[in-house]
Amino acid sequence: MFRYSADRLPVLVLLAISALDFSAYLFLDSWWLLAAYAGLSMYPKAFSCSYNHHHQHLSLFTRWLPNRLIEFVFALQTGITGNTWVLHHSLGHHLNYLDQAKDESRWMRDDGSRMGEWEYAFKTALTAYPRAWQVGQRYPRQRRVMAVMSALTVLLVAGLVAYRPVAGFLLFVVTPLSLVVGTALATWYHHSERPTDSHFVASNNILQKFYNVLTLNLGYHTAHHYKPGVHWSLLPKLHAEIEARIPLVAYAAPGMPWKLFGESPRPLAVPPPVPVAEVTKEDTHAEGFGLVGEPSGI
Ligand SMILES: [Zn+2]
Repeated sequence: MFRYSADRLPVLVLLAISALDFSAYLFLDSWWLLAAYAGLSMYPKAFSCSYNHHHQHLSLFTRWLPNRLIEFVFALQTGITGNTWVLHHSLGHHLNYLDQAKDESRWMRDDGSRMGEWEYAFKTALTAYPRAWQVGQRYPRQRRVMAVMSALTVLLVAGLVAYRPVAGFLLFVVTPLSLVVGTALATWYHHSERPTDSHFVASNNILQKFYNVLTLNLGYHTAHHYKPGVHWSLLPKLHAEIEARIPLVAYAAPGMPWKLFGESPRPLAVPPPVPVAEVTKEDTHAEGFGLVGEPSGI
């Protein structure tokens, strides 16, 4: 059922976070304890946001039903419903990020200057759903799935809020919506103020171990943009293959609070070039549409 066995443990962690959420939802009556839990839960849920990203490039399971079901778990934790990131990110940002006039996650203002971190985070979060919908004009089948999954998620959340209003609102409305902003905030580091000349200079790489455990190797960002359909577990290997083409300036430390969790190694020198096949559009995007293993219908 799993496309890659490396996903077994992370899926267990994802489900454990959900089990904690539902325990808090059902058994905590004090609003301030609920608020404290909701606030603290956002840190481990950075993992869920990142994992949702990976799933929207390459679905976790080979069958459509578990893929759709796990998307409810992702949506309740991260605020991003099934297929929204496929459109916004895999079919939007990945195709357009070298053109800041078009990029769905653009970091550049219209005048060419760089947005501040929070400005970018709020703009990207507030425009996430409308931009995903807009990309869907070119991919109607994907957009139909987004519409159905979003409607079902809203119904589910409405039911949870109706049953236990304070807990439901704090855990399944406020927290996931805050994490949409949090997700955007985290992605500001990935591309802002990088030149947009080629895939090899347009991303910042974060090699800190903790960050890459937490995000399942999202720090190998050039490799991810080079071949977005490559499974997260294989990104360090792909990074090693293309490292010689990544300039030293394209390495960064993670943001707060992750920078407190250890060194962020940067290579001392770019290794001598080794032959790497030229990137073609097919290499870069054919696998990266987030369509691998897509169901034929909802
Ligand atoms: Zn991506």
